[in-house]
Amino acid sequence: MKKNKHLHLITAGICFAMLTFATASCSLFGGDGASDEAEEAPVVHRVFIDSIHPDDTVYICTGSGSKRFHASDTCSGLNGCRKEIRGLTRQEAEKKKRTHCQICISDEQIK
Ligand SMILES: [Zn+2]
Repeated sequence: MKKNKHLHLITAGICFAMLTFATASCSLFGGDGASDEAEEAPVVHRVFIDSIHPDDTVYICTGSGSKRFHASDTCSGLNGCRKEIRGLTRQEAEKKKRTHCQICISDEQIK
């Protein structure tokens, strides 16, 4: 009976050690990124974190009906583009009377 209890304690000890190791290795190998919040995909895809400068590259659809410029050539606002998607500077885009896309560029970014 005594021997049995001793064995149980050792087993418990090993379990505890493994648990500690598992927790430690979890935080060692980038445990930070594994957040539950990542499940919902962001609706807005911001390419520029801060702001878009006049000489930064933006993207336009060369179709005649297109009036916007985009921070990314993969913006959903360009999905309907039937012509060519072209990269140019923000300055050039504004010269063509293009205004910023509401999907991929916030008002703060073009101030
Ligand atoms: Zn866009």
